Amino acid sequence: MSASSLVLNPHQNAILQLEQVAGLLANEYADSVRFWVAIEKLKTPDRVIEGGLKIKMDDGSTKEFLAYRSQHNNARGPYKGGIRFHLGVTKDEVMALSTWMTWKCAVTGIPYGGSKGGVVVDPRSLTPSELQKLSRAYARLIADKIGPWVDVPAPDVNTTGQIMAWMVDEYQTFLQEKAGAQGLTENPLAAFTGKPLAFGGSEGREEATGLGGVFVLEKVVEELALSPKAQVRIAIQGFGNVGYWFAHHAHQRGYLVVAISDSKGAVYNSKGIDPGAALAHKQSGGRLSELGQALSNEELLELEVEVLVPSALENVITEKNAGQIKAKVIIEMANGPVTPAADPILKANGVQLIPDVLANAGGVTTSYFEWVQNLQGATWTKAEVLGKLQPLMESAFAEMWKLQTTTGQDGRMATYMRAVKRVVDTMLLRGVV
Ligand code: NAD
Repeated sequence: MSASSLVLNPHQNAILQLEQVAGLLANEYADSVRFWVAIEKLKTPDRVIEGGLKIKMDDGSTKEFLAYRSQHNNARGPYKGGIRFHLGVTKDEVMALSTWMTWKCAVTGIPYGGSKGGVVVDPRSLTPSELQKLSRAYARLIADKIGPWVDVPAPDVNTTGQIMAWMVDEYQTFLQEKAGAQGLTENPLAAFTGKPLAFGGSEGREEATGLGGVFVLEKVVEELALSPKAQVRIAIQGFGNVGYWFAHHAHQRGYLVVAISDSKGAVYNSKGIDPGAALAHKQSGGRLSELGQALSNEELLELEVEVLVPSALENVITEKNAGQIKAKVIIEMANGPVTPAADPILKANGVQLIPDVLANAGGVTTSYFEWVQNLQGATWTKAEVLGKLQPLMESAFAEMWKLQTTTGQDGRMATYMRAVKRVVDTMLLRGVV
């Protein structure tokens, strides 16, 4: 994306990205009028639900929390996207995130559109019973606008499998009230993904995002002829769900994980770090910095490595530090770790970027597998789930690589071109524009 000195809100950013991609795609469409009508339509979500969730707190008082659900586009299938509980949630952010979900689902070709939800709350300030009431109230707010063939929510920042379980239960009650004596005509489990394994969740979901990133790592390493694997040094920022599983699967395949980090700081060890041992050390109360040379999270980003994997926060690679990045490849496992202003600097320096909508798409793709299992009343093994994930991630990478090579665009733009084209083509086929 091109650098912009303007400070845009996330939704304005999403629109700017779309306009840039549309400019590159336009001459592929003979009917340019319909193409531009589709692009205009994609700038605004199809629907944004908003409301106040009134909760009776444990002390007897009543509090109200602002809540949103943005349903961006459903040309390719039901809307799909997580729900975040965070004080920073805004309507603009939720609209932008729902737009990016439309592209992310199109990247691996799963039959979904994009949506996102959010509640303005710090869930750590709530007791478990207040959190349950809030989750149920959110499910009620959106209940008549979701469903397995309408919109399928999932966990996102600060929401969990337990929260999904409460929401499914509330949604089921809503359906029963509506159906009366006729009884249920749909499986409420298929209306939410990211559920606990014991309540309709899928095997393999926990590690799917990290492993999906490693499938992409293997392909980019092959294309760039980085070898042998034991000399491909990897630095990973963030050692939570995504960072740990990425590290684990990369290490298992023989790559050299030389740096990892969490919110307390980073550690570097030129001989390599065993992710399993590091996790055990952390879980027993140790600090990652005790496993080698202590670094700051900022220093980790600038290490002399082949592959840099931001897996924690957004906006960590900006126009201020992009010039100092020494990695040949950045795999964006977190959402939005590289700012739009940093993209052209990285491109000019020859850094290969694998964008978030591709790199971390293993998560939503496995959510799709969960939905399929729920709809079929089936239970797949972990090997089946992860085996189905690999070809989808690899073909999404191959499509990006081909477009990047033929157009000269960076990895992000090539991925967006493929995704936006898929969505626009479907809208044109449907005749909705
Ligand atoms: P997580 O909460 O499990 O882990 C986050 C990690 O980041 C933790 O190790 C935490 O200590 C670390 N961290 C926090 N602040 C930090 C800082 N200032 N510097 C360095 N590290 C810091 O979260 P997660 O599920 O692993 O998600 C990480 C990122 O991946 C997020 O951007 C998320 O949106 C994205 N993502 C996750 C999934 C998924 O399936 N979990 C799917 C797609 C995208």
